[in-house]
Amino acid sequence: MDIIPVPALSDNYIWLIHNETGDQVAIIDPGEATPVLRKLKEDNLRPVAILVTHHHPDHVNGIAALLEQYPIPVFGPANERIRHRTHALREGDQVDLPELELTLYVCDVPGHTAGAIAYYGHNMLFSGDTLFTAGCGKLFEGTAAQMYSSLSKLAALPGETLLYCGHEYTCNNLAFARAVEPGNVQIPARMDKVRRLREQGLPTVPAPLTIEKETNPFLRTHQQTVMEAASQFAGKPLAEGVEVLAAIRHWKDHFSC
Ligand code: FE
Ligand code: ZN
Repeated sequence: MDIIPVPALSDNYIWLIHNETGDQVAIIDPGEATPVLRKLKEDNLRPVAILVTHHHPDHVNGIAALLEQYPIPVFGPANERIRHRTHALREGDQVDLPELELTLYVCDVPGHTAGAIAYYGHNMLFSGDTLFTAGCGKLFEGTAAQMYSSLSKLAALPGETLLYCGHEYTCNNLAFARAVEPGNVQIPARMDKVRRLREQGLPTVPAPLTIEKETNPFLRTHQQTVMEAASQFAGKPLAEGVEVLAAIRHWKDHFSC
């Protein structure tokens, strides 16, 4: 499987899943139609389905214009209002795209939004704005407890799984990760790699979950270092897990680098 990033808006990624043996693709989170239509034309690709992770405009606003040219099914979360959705998905459902010889599994990942879903399979995870490279989404509609349980589900996938998220945020996220864990040597090492990619104008996404577990503070809420930093930020001792996640999410909301 070949995954093509289509940069959109200011820092979004729309992902095209392409089975190299054919010309067909699935489109993940089209927040904009123009760059997708351009890429399809450029590479002579034909879309067979649209998959969305949550209802935010920067993930769905391109759907209508894509459908005008390609009448294809639109998969999306059952618990959110998604215009033009033809297939409502929830935890345990699967998306079969025989044209791509692709099956993706669905899991509910509330937290960023109330009904967000993620898709995984074939060693890939499309997480939308729930799990980011080196970070996690803001809690717009959900609670820290929901985000904690959503992230725990995603973190349980095999370590070699490649994380494809909805935005290019790695650099800023790593600056925050370093503030939380100044002693974690993996963070500056990853930062160097990420900077080099950005200097060449390349995406820093995807990243394997193993790297995430070593450097992403939101997946490290049980680590002593992260617990101590979070407790210091909160001004009181915090229990591992949800309390630590809530504190560092709050911390990051006010963090600038
Ligand atoms: Fe979002
Ligand atoms: Zn987004």
